[in-house]
Amino acid sequence: MSNLLDTKIEFLKGVGTKKAEVLKKELGIITYADLLEYYPYRYIDKSKYVKIKEIASEDVYIQVKGKVVGKEQIGIGAKSRLVVKFSDETGIIDLVFFKGLKWISESINIGQNYVIFGKPSLFNGDYNFAHPDFETLISHQAQEPEKFSPLYFTSEKMKNSYLNSKAISRLTKTLVAQLSGIIQETLPRYIIEEYHLLSREHSLKQIHYPTTPEALNQAKARLKFEELFFMQLEHQLMKNFRIEKSQGFVFNIVGENFNNFYHKYLPFSLTNAQQRVVKEIRQDMRTGHQMNRLLQGDVGSGKTLVGLLCMLIAIDNGFQATMIAPTEILAQQHFFSLKKFLADMPINVALLTGSTKQKERKLILPELENGTINIIIGTHSLLEDKVKFFNLGLCVIDEQHRFGVEQRAKMWTKNHTPPHILVMTATPIPRTLAMTVYGDLDCSVIDELPPGRKPVQTVHFYDNFRLRLFAFMRKQISQGRQIYVVYPLINESEKLDLKDLMDGYESIVREFPLPEYQISIVHGQLKPEDKDYEMDRFKRGITNIMVSTTVIEVGVDVPNASVMVIENAERFGLSQLHQLRGRVGRGADQSYCILMSSYKLSNEAKTRIETMCKTNDGFEIAEADLQLRGPGDMAGTKQSGLLDLKIADIVKDEAILKMARNLAILVSTQDKELSKPENYLLKQYFQKNKPQTDFSKIS
Ligand code: ADP
Ligand code: MG
Repeated sequence: MSNLLDTKIEFLKGVGTKKAEVLKKELGIITYADLLEYYPYRYIDKSKYVKIKEIASEDVYIQVKGKVVGKEQIGIGAKSRLVVKFSDETGIIDLVFFKGLKWISESINIGQNYVIFGKPSLFNGDYNFAHPDFETLISHQAQEPEKFSPLYFTSEKMKNSYLNSKAISRLTKTLVAQLSGIIQETLPRYIIEEYHLLSREHSLKQIHYPTTPEALNQAKARLKFEELFFMQLEHQLMKNFRIEKSQGFVFNIVGENFNNFYHKYLPFSLTNAQQRVVKEIRQDMRTGHQMNRLLQGDVGSGKTLVGLLCMLIAIDNGFQATMIAPTEILAQQHFFSLKKFLADMPINVALLTGSTKQKERKLILPELENGTINIIIGTHSLLEDKVKFFNLGLCVIDEQHRFGVEQRAKMWTKNHTPPHILVMTATPIPRTLAMTVYGDLDCSVIDELPPGRKPVQTVHFYDNFRLRLFAFMRKQISQGRQIYVVYPLINESEKLDLKDLMDGYESIVREFPLPEYQISIVHGQLKPEDKDYEMDRFKRGITNIMVSTTVIEVGVDVPNASVMVIENAERFGLSQLHQLRGRVGRGADQSYCILMSSYKLSNEAKTRIETMCKTNDGFEIAEADLQLRGPGDMAGTKQSGLLDLKIADIVKDEAILKMARNLAILVSTQDKELSKPENYLLKQYFQKNKPQTDFSKIS
């Protein structure tokens, strides 16, 4: 029965191979079940229309009925846009399109009646619509106006493949009808009854195709509860398993390597916070249980060094250690800085990333397996099965938010007894979130920066301040400082973004000419060798300005760089801005962060920029970030990479989260292996949905 849910999405009526490909690529939707769990982010009342004259606020979705009275393409090349004049009997409003101009221009005709749907925004005192949905009045009227018409997040690529929100809605409707009567329950009856939950099938029908507001609310509540409950239960089971079943290596010795390094080679003294945290970790690594600890500390607080000290303890106890970073650049940087720290010590450090040459790989892998290598630094590629250790004792994972529970669990399998795990994150995490995302971890916090750091001064400039910006940059360079200029390149394949970057680079080269100035550029499409070369020149102080995309976002450490210019700052999320700003303010000099933006700012972007200018405190920023992001802000949630929740919102659904967590704790303590008959559905859920997770003792 459940097999039907595993049917490939291409077989659904109205999909086919091409659209299936797009759904997979853009949303990760592969099966019927995946589509079923692709929930609308909002519902609107399609029986209501707003008059153009009556539009009075931004950021609410509305419907307008009217006629296209003109259209015009403005600007050329990548910067061009299509402005459509749209009118009803009360006024005229602009519909502005920045992407897919050709397709849109061809499908929207002057003189024809349409119903448009979107969020108005204020621009130079007038309202307009950016990228509204539109539909001919005729086709609109052909349908019964829905009171709760679902809206699904779609990307530009999806729209170009005729997969707009409406198309998705048609598909989910088809699917729900087809699966009627065979959608299985995932929660045990006693839970459904105790919490008065709607059945899964009923909830899925309602979420895609609501009939009444009450039923929709109940459906949402059920699906949120389910989502949060399974997440919490997974954490609890992992934690129990670790505490009760798992043996951990006992690191009793603090020996020669640690002591030599600490007393002879450590170039500065540890901060109090670093000392405290090292102590906590040391104690945790000799309890006989596996350590699974989160190390939180703001950017620049010196987490890498803590990681290194712990790795030395592992080596002192006869084990290997590894450090995993989210990007190649960061892995390389860790490699070089660790090699430098350990230059005079008899410790064998290696680097393994996706771009390590086959030849070199062939040397490294056996040395790792026979124990010649003591420390290996790398990226995700270290998780591959081919990578085998002689005796892995500690795994340090840097910048955690890009690693999930399952990836952590993957490292557990790298030794017969799972290695200790230390997860380091620079994104300060509000408590609710910590409880949600890292519910299975213990926590240490570095709440102090190394001495002598001055808070970074942050200012916001509109584009017309560019000349002043250049003057300021020149002055900083004349004082020997180095500068980052960062462009958004959220999606490395976006040609438009790359063009922005190249244009920016050229204007900087014009403004800061050779031989007086040296400029570097780094982006995702460079060959790794070229990237390294440019990074290296910047690190060694040869280049004055590093123009780059967000590839430098995490962890890069050049203390002499004191200015961070962020272009199109409005396009970055708060935590990303904070991360970027953390690249400066590492030396003793006063540092600056300059947020450049266009005039056209959404309310949210404004709040983000104001928050950045107001505070340097990572925790405050994380809270603000969490408050800003509403449910269904798909782009935002995706970008943050923090959470992979489909429907629940950890801020707004805190009450449900607590309930789900309490239940998860109860179930996991009363039935540690989910072996009781009444919990059969729960066990089945994990076997089916988390097969890669090694709760081997559960299933
Ligand atoms: P993050 O916590 O962001 O990973 P890093 O580990 O990159 O921070 O450290 C930032 C910089 O501070 C590095 O140059 C590092 O060598 C330096 N540093 C770390 N600990 C101390 C300390 N106790 N005193 C002075 N500098 C330190
Ligand atoms: Mg770091």
